[in-house]
Amino acid sequence: MTLIEKIETGQTLVSDGAWGTFLHEKGLKPGECPELWNITHPDDVYDIAKSYIDAGADMIETNSFGGSRFKLAHYGLADRVVELNEAAAAISKQAAGDDHFVLGSVGPTGKILMMGDVTEKELYEGFKEQIIALANGGADAIVVETMSAIDEAVLAVKAAKENSQLPVICTFTFEQTIDGDYKTMMGVSPEMMTAAVVDAGADVIGTNCGNGMRKMIDIIKAFRAVAPDIPLLVHANAGAPIVKDGKTVFPETPEDMSDLTPALISAGANIIGGCCGTTPAHISAIAKSIK
Ligand SMILES: [Zn+2]
Repeated sequence: MTLIEKIETGQTLVSDGAWGTFLHEKGLKPGECPELWNITHPDDVYDIAKSYIDAGADMIETNSFGGSRFKLAHYGLADRVVELNEAAAAISKQAAGDDHFVLGSVGPTGKILMMGDVTEKELYEGFKEQIIALANGGADAIVVETMSAIDEAVLAVKAAKENSQLPVICTFTFEQTIDGDYKTMMGVSPEMMTAAVVDAGADVIGTNCGNGMRKMIDIIKAFRAVAPDIPLLVHANAGAPIVKDGKTVFPETPEDMSDLTPALISAGANIIGGCCGTTPAHISAIAKSIK
């Protein structure tokens, strides 16, 4: 069964939780390249992937969020895109087995088209290179995530649709404005995003990061109002981060998140997982609430 067929059964699916915070817990140091760990610490990366499968996730991501040549260039690793992304997908596929799905993670490049940082062609080629490597490594879908600019997201979605057979998920990160509605830092609303990325070919859309479950309910309602039929994915943070004893902590407990899960489903979410601050315990609680 493909991911899309599984969504079409009508059951709410469970995705995984945070990777970044988990890698730091395992010893990734500030300034170190997370994707290089697919080669240097494959067992730790596998542990993260497997812990989310064991927690009840139907799908897990890959350790490739910053795996474009633009991001890897910060570490002098721009010539290792293929190796690092293939390894990322292979590790997650090993943990997922044949009965769970692997979402190949593609994050923002940090380049802004509007500022002339890169050309559209360079950006497209960069996404294409990463996406083909994720597909070759065994990804079952591509998730273009944490996006804030429509032009960049559209290029990534097109690169995935035009260079792989995989379904494509696209999620943006929104913040609540002073008026109470939601926009990305580039000023994009859920409604604006929906029109653009669905037109580019996205099979699933949604939102990740930036908000805890409660605000995600509002955002999902906004999507549903303009897109009654498209599957929606949510990766919510464990609440808004607070600084406690000099450390950033995410306050929502697994129970907080599982309590809000039914409302998120009623609002129209089809796939629910976590972003920053969520752990296998959060995913397990969400999975129990769904089931
Ligand atoms: Zn996040």
